[in-house]
Amino acid sequence: MENRNFAGDLQISKVNKWYPGDVHAVKDMDMEIKRGEFIVFVGPSGCGKTTLLRMIAGLESISSGEVVMDGRIVNKVPPKNRDIAMVFQNYALYPNMKVKDNIAFPLKMQHIGKTEIERRAAELAQKLELETLLERKPGALSGGQRQRVALARAMIRKPGLFLMDEPLANLDAKLRTEMRREIITLQRELGVTTIYVTHDQTEAMTMGTRIAVINGGVLQQFGTPQEIYRNPANLFVAGFIGSPNMNLWDTKLVTYQGQHYLTLGNTHIPIDVSNLPADGLREPLKAGIRPEHIVPAAPDEPHAVRMKINILENTGREAAVFLTGADMPNLTVVTDADFSGQVGQEVYIRLKPEKIHLFNIETGSAYG
Ligand code: ATP
Repeated sequence: MENRNFAGDLQISKVNKWYPGDVHAVKDMDMEIKRGEFIVFVGPSGCGKTTLLRMIAGLESISSGEVVMDGRIVNKVPPKNRDIAMVFQNYALYPNMKVKDNIAFPLKMQHIGKTEIERRAAELAQKLELETLLERKPGALSGGQRQRVALARAMIRKPGLFLMDEPLANLDAKLRTEMRREIITLQRELGVTTIYVTHDQTEAMTMGTRIAVINGGVLQQFGTPQEIYRNPANLFVAGFIGSPNMNLWDTKLVTYQGQHYLTLGNTHIPIDVSNLPADGLREPLKAGIRPEHIVPAAPDEPHAVRMKINILENTGREAAVFLTGADMPNLTVVTDADFSGQVGQEVYIRLKPEKIHLFNIETGSAYG
């Protein structure tokens, strides 16, 4: 089939992938992606995100279902005719070409003028901090430098779709943060629909306009970073997104004198009735609260919970306080960096009732 330009609307419809040996790597995947979106696939190692990306690229056959670009089924269209630019973890550069020629290569193929090619290559080299390496060959680069050359080569032209699989995996923390911003800026300038695969939830939260959280080949939730953080659809998403993790504990609902409480270890804490579903809760239940929604309390405050500081991690910007107590679940609190408590000390805390999430343990689904 001939090469056709792709405007950028992508639909993944009931896509499955079985590998030999009965490995069901991707299960009934459904997604609608709009032109210009920056979509992140995130999930633990082996969850199927690379397989899904490779099916979108045309590098992996689709066992069932459809990949649709601009309304056209492309299951059988070869990768070179899909108008995509890819940066994969081990995507090879041309070993005999200098860095500058590697970067410029896709534009040369399009017969674009030399001056324009040089201008664009220089601009990308500057943005991706490659200016001093332009005359070298890939063999004389570090892994992280090679990755950045591959990114520059992918982003030098404007394809219909960018596919990126952990393109920053080999970079140190500082460069990684800088490169994230450069990728986002470049992507926005170009307006190209992008799918970015990572197992790093911070990367997902900071880069994605929408995030697809995947586990065991199944799409767990697809939404904006804020939606996913504020309203995780299930226990997996609740535990996976957010650092430090959401506090989760086994709980029961207790009602007396018209007020609803949840058990927290050996104590009861009030709950906001708006957290309760109209058709009731089915036990066993798990409750969850983000570390920033537990706050210091005065000892005589109603429902203050007494616990002991076990570990204290102060980053200078904020303090993560890990608490323990007899017959109590461990709790993590994130508070101000000027928090003055010491390890071993007792503290009183309070859980903000309106910030508590409830989950059905058997199905994992969130209530509310
Ligand atoms: P990672 O973050 O570790 O790269 P991933 O989420 O990208 O993981 P995939 O590489 O898509 O995961 O793999 C999904 C599942 O399919 C895994 O269980 C993996 O072992 C399996 N798998 C991948 N490739 C093959 C293959 N060629 N043959 C058989 N099983 C495979």
